[in-house]
Amino acid sequence: MQTGKIGVTSENLFPIIKKFLYSDHDIFLREIVSNAVDATQKLKTLASKGEYKGDVTDLKVSVKLDEKAKTITVSDNGLGMTAEEINKYINEIAFSGANDFLEKYKDDANAIIGHFGLGFYSSFMVSKEVDIITKSYQEGAQPVKWTCNGSPEYSIEEVKKDEVGTDIVMHINSDSEEFLHENKIAEILEKYCKFLPVPVLFGKKKEWKDGKQIDTDEENQVNDTDPAWTKKPADLKEDDYQNFYRRLYPMADEPLFNIHLNVDYPFNLTGILYFPKIKNNFEVQKNKIQLYSNQVFVTDSVEGIVPEFLTLLHGVIDSPDIPLNVSRSYLQSDSNVKKISSHISKKVADRLTEIFNEKRSEFEKKWDDLKIFIEYGMLADEKFYDRAMKFFFFKNTEDKYFTFEEYEKLIKDNQTDKEKNLIYLYTTHKEEQYTFVEEARNKGYDVLILDDVLAPHLISRFEQKHSDKRFVRVDSDVIENLVKKEDKSKEELTWEQKQELSPIFQAVCPETNAHTFIVDFQDLGEQGSPMVITRSEFMRRMKDMSAAQGGMSFYGDMPDNLNLVVNTAHPLVKKVLEAKDKKLGTSLEKMKTDIEAKKSEISSMEKAKSGKKEEEVPQADKEKLESLNDELAKLEESKREKLSDFGKKSKLAKQLVDLALLANGLLKGADLDKFVKRSVELIK
Ligand code: ADP
Ligand code: MG
Repeated sequence: MQTGKIGVTSENLFPIIKKFLYSDHDIFLREIVSNAVDATQKLKTLASKGEYKGDVTDLKVSVKLDEKAKTITVSDNGLGMTAEEINKYINEIAFSGANDFLEKYKDDANAIIGHFGLGFYSSFMVSKEVDIITKSYQEGAQPVKWTCNGSPEYSIEEVKKDEVGTDIVMHINSDSEEFLHENKIAEILEKYCKFLPVPVLFGKKKEWKDGKQIDTDEENQVNDTDPAWTKKPADLKEDDYQNFYRRLYPMADEPLFNIHLNVDYPFNLTGILYFPKIKNNFEVQKNKIQLYSNQVFVTDSVEGIVPEFLTLLHGVIDSPDIPLNVSRSYLQSDSNVKKISSHISKKVADRLTEIFNEKRSEFEKKWDDLKIFIEYGMLADEKFYDRAMKFFFFKNTEDKYFTFEEYEKLIKDNQTDKEKNLIYLYTTHKEEQYTFVEEARNKGYDVLILDDVLAPHLISRFEQKHSDKRFVRVDSDVIENLVKKEDKSKEELTWEQKQELSPIFQAVCPETNAHTFIVDFQDLGEQGSPMVITRSEFMRRMKDMSAAQGGMSFYGDMPDNLNLVVNTAHPLVKKVLEAKDKKLGTSLEKMKTDIEAKKSEISSMEKAKSGKKEEEVPQADKEKLESLNDELAKLEESKREKLSDFGKKSKLAKQLVDLALLANGLLKGADLDKFVKRSVELIK
């Protein structure tokens, strides 16, 4: 028996390990099992070079739990170690500046373990004593047992062992007895070891008998040694991809597409990414990509490695070149990692382009589910935006799909306005904005459906990029103004007539806090609707965005400004004017002459006053002018009141406004009921 001191400069390594590696205790098993796997792989390499003559056809790792003895043993039939090798690889650990480093990365067990090659020593997080019983593959090697009880002192002695390989026996400490349960170990193995390249055995296969699970005689292999991503894409069928997806996410819906990554330059990276089916809340679906290093699971938080917008994808990435054992912040600044990230983004775009080119109809079918990823990517990543412009789809109200280019061609002739802007008309809700959509379509315009949460942001992005393209929602203005072609010269109504109609219609607009109505006039043609309600594009977008951001805001609090656009060319509007003349005729005329008289009196007084200094104007004149102005204001007010009174009593005016409200889904409850009754009356 020989004893010695482990080569650490720090007084005692183990308290540090235990103290700082408080998180992620699970990984001790990953470290010990992957060392065992490494040992078998090394033996295989030696055999292939002819340096080892023994059998390497049955390489495996087995994990045994002994609840009574409170041990977990990991055994392999790999290359083993000689006493000298134990000395070299286990006892002498470089450990300079350890305390500083540990302090810095105390929350990141992966970083600490990787930095010091402390994989093996992570077993001390859960063990009060660890034994290595090992026999080297070398001819005539003496099997040895190394024991260490958590102090820097170890002992090493000769033992008997028939087979080449290593047993690591961990005597679990009293704080870590949670690991002495079969389920716990099975769970850790499933998490970290399920795709290791050598069979990992744990316990026996189970069988249901008399309502209970019982052990069979058969060894239970926990892993799949050659998972799909390690195979060549040519050797895999669609089914294999689907099955592998199910192995990863047993509960998830079928994915839309997969992307097999296979890179060996400038770094090694393999993997399969899936576009999952997602609905609206994509935040919760993040962190589904699993990161492996040579088939050893490392983490499922992939920020920094996978571009942010692709963290919505599912699947596996395996790269021995990602420095997995460093801290997150280091990882994000690593230039290799940045390359990996942009490479993945490119691969995803390439694959989508390929599917688009080869299977356009399939791509169209899946577009509605897919677009959220693509829109997200376009907004998040400039390069992806450029690539995606080839396969990004617009969908119109007829459910037809167009690329950006195709759509531009489609609308170019008909939807270019007089300022040479291309106008993209869209609806966010085909049913609610039905009349507007119909009207636009009747005019030969095409209307897009842009209805998802990212659409407003994407629209802004498009407009930024193309200053000659504008997106206009179909209900943001009357049809004549959506695509402004040429200026109207002919005026259907005089200024005075408009002035009279304004209070009439204002009087029949609903009074609510949510909306303010502004009466406006447009020539919409005799065939157009008599009245249309529109909502300014700017105001609406501001409101939508503040609603999307949640909480209260300036725009969110503003009442909805609606324009009640009166069609000056419509016969029914003229009918309202005629009815007004009939009803108010002479009395209104009288008011008008009075107003005119007052106005000319005021203007002649103003004229006389002009050129004179303030103090030269006699006080009496000043008072006269003031009272004339008051009288004029009163006259105008009573004229407005008269018109307003007329409006309130005019069934036709009310009916016209209600029709416009109805088309916008703004006529509800009692008002709707009154409308129906009034309609019946008017028809009678
Ligand atoms: P790393 O695996 O990063 O080299 P570890 O601390 O995990 O660091 O292991 C240290 C070394 O101990 C390994 O490189 C290997 O040489 C040796 N070793 C550990 N476990 C085994 C094993 N089961 N069989 C043979 N050698 C082993
Ligand atoms: Mg290791």
